[in-house]
Parts: sequence; structure tokens; C-alpha cells
Amino acid sequence: EKLGIALVGLGGYASGQLAPALQETKLCKLSGIVTGTPEKEKIWADKYDIPEENIYNYETYDQIADNDDIDIIYVVLPNSMHAEYTIRAAEADKHVICEKPMATSVEDSQRMLEACRQAKRKLSIGYRLHFEPYNQHMMHAGQNEVFGPVQQMSGEHSFPLNDPTAWRRDQELAGGGPLMDVGIYVIQAGIYTYGHLPTSVMAWDKTQDTESFTDVEGTIEWDLNFPDDVTLHGRSSYEEGGNNFRVEASEGWAELSPAYSYGGIQGETSKGPMDFPQVNQQALQMDDFARCILEDEPSIVPGEMGKRDMITMEAIYKSAETGNEIMLNFDKDSNFLD
Ligand code: NAD
Repeated sequence: EKLGIALVGLGGYASGQLAPALQETKLCKLSGIVTGTPEKEKIWADKYDIPEENIYNYETYDQIADNDDIDIIYVVLPNSMHAEYTIRAAEADKHVICEKPMATSVEDSQRMLEACRQAKRKLSIGYRLHFEPYNQHMMHAGQNEVFGPVQQMSGEHSFPLNDPTAWRRDQELAGGGPLMDVGIYVIQAGIYTYGHLPTSVMAWDKTQDTESFTDVEGTIEWDLNFPDDVTLHGRSSYEEGGNNFRVEASEGWAELSPAYSYGGIQGETSKGPMDFPQVNQQALQMDDFARCILEDEPSIVPGEMGKRDMITMEAIYKSAETGNEIMLNFDKDSNFLD
């Protein structure tokens, strides 16, 4: 019997990626939906064969507590809503997958961790690239010094977001701009490639169109400093495109471009091209979480990792705002690699 997942928020990612991936999963399946748009109820019910009693809206959400078909709630809402819907899911006694970024503040991340702990439910973050072979190879090569000790890293994740009305450009709903949305992947790649936590950060707001980007940043760059003088230079923008990650080591290098896409990731190294299968990242990610629940194992992408990244991003914003280097002192909760 597969574990049942309910998707909360049926926007682009839930409909374009997660629901199709749930047709391929082996340990979990799409059992329910939560939507504020009544027209979507019938469309999804017909398309995915979802019984009426497993369809909820934001008023009836907490009643999921009484539904044994639903084991996992997957929160796919705008960022500022993640905390509330994760906490209410834990209170309904459900395990939770929450999309990245985990929340819009460290404080909210902490509240989410506590709610899930108190309910004895598992919490994981939608960090799909931990299940993607090219990125897994970067983790392996960097952490095992396949090209010698890591010396420098750099990466960019950017895409043009021109629509000024998009929730991603609304500070209230998004909690920040491209850094929170896609730059987070560059931070993740730096940490899992080197295998150490950062110790400090310097960052710079590089917004070009300051007349259009008045709420969240248009472009941001940062230097994330790690032990032994290793630095990750990162860049993230809503004003251009960019999708790459590169690591320089003492005896070679490796690079992914594109690095963070749902498919079509490619890699080159100083020893030749990488050649790995293309996978359904979301299916692997959700199946692994289902396995963790069934076997009572910890997730490799837990809520604690989400909080770690929130701490890092808050420090990046603080540095960009003040012009100061911000020290990073991770607490026990966040002292989490992968
Ligand atoms: P989207 O705008 O396409 O969908 C958001 C959904 O939330 C919509 O169905 C919308 O109706 C609903 N919603 C409820 N209340 C809302 C409100 N007050 N304002 C706006 N929308 C509201 O966004 P998306 O691209 O699906 O992103 C959703 C979440 O998933 C975000 O946290 C995003 O960071 C994350 N995401 C993750 C990945 C990934 O690769 N892991 C990819 C895309 C998005």
C-alpha cells in the first residue's frame, strides 16, 4: 500500500512537476488536493482520479486530520505561507514535505521544526537535486577530493522575471527575490560539493533596473566563505538568465551547466565529460521521503537543512544591506550537512 500525498497549492510546480511525478512513484501516490480555486477541483479529480472526500480547500484544510488516505502533506504555496500550512499539517498529525525556501524567516523555520517534532512527524524540504546524479557526482567528487582538495566554487542561478505583479516579486509573499527563489540552489551546491558549513558571508545588491525592482532585489551577488579559505562566489538574478556551478580543485575542476534544471543537466570535468542517466528528480525525492517514513529513517533533506539555508540567506541579505561581513554560527539544529 502506497503512502498518500496531498498537494497544497495547485500552481505551476504542483501541476507541472509534482503531480506528473506522482504517477511514477513506487512508495507514494497522489491521494488528495487542497485548492482555493473551485474550478480546479473537478479538473484534478478527473485527471488524477481523486475521490471527492480527499478534496479540500483552505477552510476545510484542518479536517485532513481525519483522513487516513493522506499520510503526507506537500506544501507548494508561495513562500510566506509555508510556515502556517506546515505547522497546521503537523497539528493534523501528518508528515510534511515543504517546498524551498522553507520559510521567509529563520524564526518561522524554527517554529516549523518545533511543530513537527512535537507532533512526532517528519519534515523534509523539496531539495530535489540531492536525488539527481550529476549533482550527486559533484557531492561525491568534492567531498572525496576526486580532483584534489576543493579551492574555489562559483555558480549562478537566474532567470528573467519581468511580470511586476508576480508573487515572486512581492516581499510579503516571497520573503526576498531571486536569492530565496533560485539562488538557494547555488548555496546548496556550494555546501554539498565542499561538504562543510560556511563561516561568513559578504553580499552585494547588484540590481540593475532599480526603478522596476523596488520590493525584492533584481540581482544579488555573494561570497560565501568556508573553512580553509574556500569561497563560493554566487549570483542570482531576475534580470537575466544563468544556470551553472563550477568547482576548482588543486588537481582539476568540474562544472555543471545547466546545473539546477528538472532535466537535461550536463557536466564537464578536467578528466572528461560526465555521463549519467536523466532521472525524475521529484519522483525520487518523494519516494525517498516515503521510504524514510516507512522505515523510520531520517530524511537526507530535512527541515533542519532548510533552516540552515534560511540562516545563510538572512545573513546574505544583512550583508548586502549593511555592507558588513556577517559571521555564520550555526546552532545544533542547523549543523547539518547532508
Ligand atoms: P505558482 O504561483 O505557480 O503557484 C502558487 C499556488 O499558490 C497557486 O496555485 C496559487 O493559487 C496558490 N496561492 C494560494 N494563496 C496565494 C496567494 N496569496 N498568492 C498567490 N498564490 C497563492 O508558484 P509555484 O512556482 O508553483 O511555486 C510554489 C512553491 O513551490 C514556491 O515556494 C516555490 O519556491 C516552490 N517551487 C519549487 C520548485 C523546485 O524545483 N523545488 C520549483 C518551482 C517552485
